[in-house]
Amino acid sequence: MPTPAEALALILDRLAPLPPVTAPLGAALGLAAARALVSAEQVPPFTNSAMDGYAVRAGDLAAASPEHPVRLQVLGDLAAGAVPDRPVAPGTAWRIMTGAPLPDGADTVVPVEHTVRGADWVEVRGPLRKGIHVRHAGEDIRAGLALVPAGHALRPGDLGVLAAVGMPAVPVHPRARVAVLTTGDELVDVSEKPGPGRIRDANIHAVCAQVAACGAIPIPFPRVKDDRATLSAALREALQADAILTTGGISVGDYDFVKPILEELGAERVFWKVAQKPGGPLGFWMAGSKPVFGIPGNPVAAMLMVEEYVRPALRRLMGFSALHRPVAEAVLEDGWTGKAGDRRTTFLRVVARTEGGRLRARLTGPQGSAILSSMLHANALAVIPAGTDRVEPGGAITLHLTELAEDH
Ligand code: AMP
Ligand code: MG
Repeated sequence: MPTPAEALALILDRLAPLPPVTAPLGAALGLAAARALVSAEQVPPFTNSAMDGYAVRAGDLAAASPEHPVRLQVLGDLAAGAVPDRPVAPGTAWRIMTGAPLPDGADTVVPVEHTVRGADWVEVRGPLRKGIHVRHAGEDIRAGLALVPAGHALRPGDLGVLAAVGMPAVPVHPRARVAVLTTGDELVDVSEKPGPGRIRDANIHAVCAQVAACGAIPIPFPRVKDDRATLSAALREALQADAILTTGGISVGDYDFVKPILEELGAERVFWKVAQKPGGPLGFWMAGSKPVFGIPGNPVAAMLMVEEYVRPALRRLMGFSALHRPVAEAVLEDGWTGKAGDRRTTFLRVVARTEGGRLRARLTGPQGSAILSSMLHANALAVIPAGTDRVEPGGAITLHLTELAEDH
C-alpha cells in the first residue's frame, strides 16, 4: 500500500499536460502558458509625455526664475493619439497631454501646474531637470523581454501586458474536462426528500465544485446505481472525458463494482488503497492516457482525496508548473490523540490563523470521516505522519494550506 507521497508520485509520473491550444486573451485567464512568452515589441512604442503640460527644451529654461520667467511660443496642442507636425525649435513648446508622442527637439515636459498660459505663449518660472516627465520608448518592456514562463497561470496583469505587446491569442493548455460519477443505491438528488434508508448525494456537488475550483470543467453524470450493467455503461461514456472521477463503490462491500468494472473496460490499475486516514480505499487507474480515480463515497474522504490527489493531477493535465498547495509549519493548539501504532498518515481538518507571527491551528471539531461538517470551516489540512499517535496541545504540525493558490 503506497504512502500518500508515494501515491501522489505514482499518479503524477503517469500524467502529461494536455496538448496546447491557442486561446484568445479573453479566454486565457487562469490557464497555464504552454511555452515561455517573449515580447516581440517594446512598450511604450514611442517616447511620450508622462504629464499634461508643455513639451520643451530644458536648455531654454535654464535661467528661468519667479522674477525672470521664460516665455515660450506655443506651437499647438497634442492630445493622446495625435502626431506633431513640427519639431520644438529653441524658444518654442507644444502643449502636450499624457501619452501624446514627444515632438522632435523636445527633451522635457513642464507640468501644466508650473506654468502660466497666454494666448499663444506659456511662461515657466523655474528650470527643470532635463528629461523629466518623459517616458522613453521601450523603458517599460523591451523587445525580447521574457514575460511569463511556461506553466505559469495567466493572471489579469499578464493579460494586460500580452495585450500591450500585441499578442491577441496565447498558447495555453486547455481546461481538463472531468467526468464526475457518484455511485450508490442510497443516493437521491438534493432536491428530493430522502425516503427510508436513503441520503442526499452530497458528493456530486462537493466534488464538481472542487474540480471547477481548480480551473477544470466538471461534467456531472446522472447518479449511478450499484448495478454492474448501469455502472459499466456510465463508465464507458465517462471515458470520453480527459479525466474520470467516481465516488463510492470502491471498497470491499458486496456492491462495490467500480474496481472490477474499470478493469473489465481495460483500465490499468496503478494502485488501490493509500495508507492514510480518512479515505484509505482510493483507487487509481490509467485508461490509455486518461487518469481514473476511484474515490471512496464518504463525503469527507472524497473531498480530501480530491484535494490531495485529484487537484495536483488535474493541474498537471492543465500544464501548470506549480502543483502543490503551500505547506507550512504550525502549532496545533488543541492537540490530538489517534490510534496507537497506526501505520497510516492522518489528515485532520483545521482552521489556521496567524497570531503573534506564528501559524496556529485548531481542529474543526470531531474528525470522524463521516463528519462532513468538519469541512465547513476548514482552511487547511494538518498532516500527521504515520507512527505519530499523539500531538500534545501546542505541538508542531505540518499544514497544507488549502485556501491558498499553488503559485502563492
Ligand atoms: P461507499 O464508499 O460506497 O461504501 O460509501 C461510504 C459511505 O459514504 C456510505 O455511508 C455512503 O452512504 C456514503 N456516500 C457514498 N456516496 C455518497 C454521496 N455521493 N453523497 C453522500 N454520501 C455518500
Ligand atoms: Mg456505496
